[in-house]
Amino acid sequence: MNKEILKNINVLYVEDEQDVREFTSKTISTIVNKVIVAENGKEGLEKFQENPDINLILTDINMPKMGGLEMCAEIRKTDKEIPIVITSAHSDPNFLKKAIDVNVSAYAMKPIDLYHLIESMIKAVEPIFLRKQLENININLENKVEEATRQTKSILDAQDNIVFLTNLEQIIEVNKKFLEFFNVHSLDDFLEKKISIISKFEEEGGLFNKKSLDKGYNWLLEILELNEVDRVVKMKTPQGEDKVFTVNVDDYENKGEHYVVSFTDITELKEKSNLLEYQATHDHLTGLFNRQKFNEIFIKEIKRDKRYDNALSVIIFDIDNFKDFNDNFGHATGDEVLKALAEIVLNSVREHDTIVRWGGEEFLVLLPQTELEGAKLVAEKIRVAIEKYESPKIPSQITASFGVSKLEKEDDEVSILQKVDKALYIAKSNGKNQVVSN
Ligand code: GH3
Ligand code: MG
Ligand code: MG
Repeated sequence: MNKEILKNINVLYVEDEQDVREFTSKTISTIVNKVIVAENGKEGLEKFQENPDINLILTDINMPKMGGLEMCAEIRKTDKEIPIVITSAHSDPNFLKKAIDVNVSAYAMKPIDLYHLIESMIKAVEPIFLRKQLENININLENKVEEATRQTKSILDAQDNIVFLTNLEQIIEVNKKFLEFFNVHSLDDFLEKKISIISKFEEEGGLFNKKSLDKGYNWLLEILELNEVDRVVKMKTPQGEDKVFTVNVDDYENKGEHYVVSFTDITELKEKSNLLEYQATHDHLTGLFNRQKFNEIFIKEIKRDKRYDNALSVIIFDIDNFKDFNDNFGHATGDEVLKALAEIVLNSVREHDTIVRWGGEEFLVLLPQTELEGAKLVAEKIRVAIEKYESPKIPSQITASFGVSKLEKEDDEVSILQKVDKALYIAKSNGKNQVVSN
């Protein structure tokens, strides 16, 4: 018998016989939390209404003013649950029917056998006690699940990256940054608006939702196919701004069922690295390739020429008497000349030709698939364009001298440059503003 469960309960004990009442209440008060005593049904009902913390009713049946069962019938009008134990010597069937009607939990026969009474009380209280315990366990469980969910959510929300959880078919959970980026209130809001996550795949209908999967297309699977370093995507903000992200995909618990996908914004980094790369490969004054970039391209072109026997020609040109020009009009005006020349050459050659600022006032043009005769014509075209060039920023006529050469079988990157240099030298020696080939 588990008396423990009575320890915390409050009992309303109703009994009209004084000695029975005093003896029984004294005994049960040692095993329960509190005993509230009443002498008849009427007083019992009043005390029940005054004490909302009563957990069990223990009552006699036959009493003056109001009987135990009448009292219980009244109580049941407001409380369907409270366990009731009746003590009686009665055995008439009418009493039994009434007892059933008020849903009595247990009986203890009179004269009272204390052992039996306690057993009846336990029997009455036990289901409620067990239910309470179960409820507590459930509440604890719910709290724990809620707590765990909250923790996961706050971990996700604390991320500076855009993060979402997916089973590859649908997005299951997203973090705060995700909602902020796509300017939505909730995941449902996002899914309803059918926003495309990755603008790069937009043309291919790559909405990451159920619909796109029905079409058998899933950009995430496509990303998983890529090497980690290649997992770079573009996403558009609702304002239409393109942002660049690296994508990290974690196979949650390595089961291939759930993936945590996170996007790290590398837009600034990318812009910076683009800028650095630009600065490293271009001349800052004219915007043309610099010598370093040229070497890279030149070596590739020479290799290609050797393999496919492409005609590769080179033009070099140098401004005539530029020192005098600078001396007369100042270095800043000289700079304007260099910029204008870059424009002139850009407008005179083909897209595949490479133009380089070779030195201070020397330029070099690499012309793939161009025979010597063709290269000479291009050089002449540039020469004339420079000669005729006029601009309010440039106070005097500019001319330049040209050397042209074609890569022959015996040539390499050194000898071909020696050849054009020699041609340029001859052009200068012969009176400048002319094209010489070699
Ligand atoms: P030549 O006709 O024989 O080529 O004579 P030149 O005076 O043009 O040749 P020289 O090699 O004696 O002088 C080159 C001049 O180019 C000297 C220098 O001031 C000028 N120059 C080189 N780089 C720059 C530049 O970035 N800006 C300006 N404004 N001038 C430059
Ligand atoms: Mg020079
Ligand atoms: Mg010069």
